[in-house]
Amino acid sequence: MENRLQAVHARIAKAITVAGRDPTEITLVAVSKTQSAAAIRMAWAAGQRHFGENYVQEAIAKMAELTDLDIVWHFIGPIQSNKTRLIATHFDWVHSIERLAVAERLSSQRPVDRGPINACIQVNVSGEASKSGCEPSMAPGLVTAACALPGLRVRGLMTVPEPGLKPDHQREQLEALRSLQRAINTAGLALDTLSMGMSDDLEAAIAAGSTMVRIGTAIFGQRTHAGTIGADSASSAPILTVSPDGPS
Ligand SMILES: *Cc1c(COP(=O)(O)O)cnc(C)c1O
Repeated sequence: MENRLQAVHARIAKAITVAGRDPTEITLVAVSKTQSAAAIRMAWAAGQRHFGENYVQEAIAKMAELTDLDIVWHFIGPIQSNKTRLIATHFDWVHSIERLAVAERLSSQRPVDRGPINACIQVNVSGEASKSGCEPSMAPGLVTAACALPGLRVRGLMTVPEPGLKPDHQREQLEALRSLQRAINTAGLALDTLSMGMSDDLEAAIAAGSTMVRIGTAIFGQRTHAGTIGADSASSAPILTVSPDGPS
């Protein structure tokens, strides 16, 4: 795992050089869904601090085992309304807001003593019908409305491009998110975050302006149980057999 983490650092460093960007602009979020608390602890020991999780109950179970570590927790999965309080209470970042109603719940349920939660609006740049995220045309309005919520600190936009694209198309989708961010900032906001780039497209994402790459497989290896990450309600089950928050 430590070797894989170093290899990811090397890929990121190279992509930053190629793109001529400032390394301090880019944060690596290690996506630890389906991985054990022990695996997270190993990555932490190797210097990793930001971790991303997709399933609320699974994440909270692991957090309880890792309270001695200074981890920044990112929620990156689909958000069910009945999970917003847990997300607002336990996470430092939430990347996957796609509706104002969810933003409002997260804001009102955020414990005041934790300060506003860092938030990104997820945008469906690929236009796939099944994909999470708001329509690009809805993003400016959603960002503006979310900025008015006291429990959120709106930081930027997030996307998951369509899988299996040729590099040129991949890059088009990633650049579409950057264009959207620029348009929103030109209209007077100050978004500083573009959450994009996964194991397969991190170079393209950094070239296209990503400030947060979310990397799972390249750090932890294949999620061998990815198909069985079961229902969140199975919270007492071992980590590798818990399931997602439901259909996304
Ligand atoms: C699983 C996941 C990732 C990490 O994907 P890898 O291909 O394993 O790097 C990133 N972002 C989101 C939203 C995910 O669900």
